[in-house]
Amino acid sequence: MKINYRTINQRLNVEIDVESAKDGFKKLSEFQEVFDESCCGLCKNQELQFVVRTVEGNDYYELKCKKCFGKLAYGQHKSGGSLFPKRKNQDGTFDSENKGWHKWNGNGS
Ligand SMILES: [Zn+2]
Repeated sequence: MKINYRTINQRLNVEIDVESAKDGFKKLSEFQEVFDESCCGLCKNQELQFVVRTVEGNDYYELKCKKCFGKLAYGQHKSGGSLFPKRKNQDGTFDSENKGWHKWNGNGS
């Protein structure tokens, strides 16, 4: 079966092919985690841009706010190559305030 899903901010519309309810759950969970960020975690602006930077052969996936230039970095799972938003502070605790959004800090992370 197919699932039609539209993101919270109405900007992306996808058709996801699923084999079962479990499969749909997995695919939606992955899609939502990566693409369903509705606004900047710092200034709440909804103009977000998907950015891929390549530095020394490594790709860095980020969402960037067009207003305050805050960004949300994505990590890559070691197996499967799927992405996840980095929402933790440097010390490993969950960033409950900004949900991982931060201003450029110059160290490439
Ligand atoms: Zn912003």
